[in-house]
Amino acid sequence: MRIILLGAPGSGKGTVAEALRSAYGFPKLSTGDLLREAVREKTPLGLVAASQMGKGALVDDATVLALLRERLAKGDCRGGYVLDGYPRTIAQADSLDALGLPGPEIVFDLRVSDTVVLERLANRRTCPRCEAIYHLVNKLPKSAGGCDVCGTALVQRNDDTPEVITERLKTYHAKTEPLVARYAAKGNLHRIDGDAAAGAVIREVRRILDAALGQEARAGK
Ligand code: ADP
Repeated sequence: MRIILLGAPGSGKGTVAEALRSAYGFPKLSTGDLLREAVREKTPLGLVAASQMGKGALVDDATVLALLRERLAKGDCRGGYVLDGYPRTIAQADSLDALGLPGPEIVFDLRVSDTVVLERLANRRTCPRCEAIYHLVNKLPKSAGGCDVCGTALVQRNDDTPEVITERLKTYHAKTEPLVARYAAKGNLHRIDGDAAAGAVIREVRRILDAALGQEARAGK
């Protein structure tokens, strides 16, 4: 099963992807995480990506597709995976279709208001090592300032500043939001109230996913 998460920055894609990984074992393929890793490692792709990301713009399609294809080739994707942050443009959705990947596809659109996004991202802290996500009010780490998973000191992402968030939201509305209509027309889109608390969002996604996985299993018999 290919699970695609659509939604604005701060809509909870990373949180949902992590919950699905832990509940079903589907790996989380986050193009944002892959890009930040390339930036940290100063690979040629990372050097190109860093300036775009710092401005809240999208990284070019060819660069992102190259990273994604490399990740998809790993064995852990065979049983299904969650795409967090890809596709983000109509052209990327075309590229994804052109890969001709096997298996059914399900799409969740996490719908959030811009005011909720601004509040969440201003309070977001992340682990620069394992990309775990925290919130200064709703999801504090157990020990002050350190990641629960790996102990690394948490940071505020350099694109989580008010100016860059505003640009990312503009980019989202112009380039990514049109994908919602595309998947709605395809018939595999589920709209989720992303303004709700994380637990409620995860429960709703799992309820729909369980039904789809059950259908798939019955069809396979
Ligand atoms: P968010 O969804 O909160 O903006 P991400 O971690 O998914 O955060 O992405 C951070 C940045 O990485 C984006 O602003 C963009 O510059 C880049 N990026 C991530 N995914 C893509 C993609 N599919 N295509 C182009 N750029 C991307």
